[in-house]
Amino acid sequence: MKNPNTADYLLSHGIKPSVHRVAVMNFLLNNRIHPTVDTIYAALAPSIRTLSKTTVYNSLKLFVEKEAIQVIEIDDKGARYDACCDKHGHFKCLACGGVFDVFKMPYLNQDELGLSDFKITDCQIYYKGYCPDCVKKEMHFNSNN
Ligand SMILES: [Zn+2]
Ligand SMILES: [Zn+2]
Repeated sequence: MKNPNTADYLLSHGIKPSVHRVAVMNFLLNNRIHPTVDTIYAALAPSIRTLSKTTVYNSLKLFVEKEAIQVIEIDDKGARYDACCDKHGHFKCLACGGVFDVFKMPYLNQDELGLSDFKITDCQIYYKGYCPDCVKKEMHFNSNN
């Protein structure tokens, strides 16, 4: 599925929409799975022969700098990327590795956090556990024992 507005989205963030950048951004917009560099490269490389992993990495770095996407560091296996820049938390499944969005977050302001004198530059809230599919599999597995 192609998103016809991807080039415009990049331009609106001051990013020149090269073929490779549009492909990477398209992937992020159409696959809300918080992919790593490796996931994006593996998905796009077969259809875009001129694409290198460095190009994917550099495109993502530029998108983050221009605030077109955000980087999620929930995983020790590498940064994940998210086309949704709205404030939200994440849930990582320890079984399948899936990272899910958590939009109903009770964010406190800086005074409420007791951090009035601090300068906050980023806020990431992470939950870890098991997603519904993996909870179901686990229950199924247990009932067979
Ligand atoms: Zn899972
Ligand atoms: Zn997200």
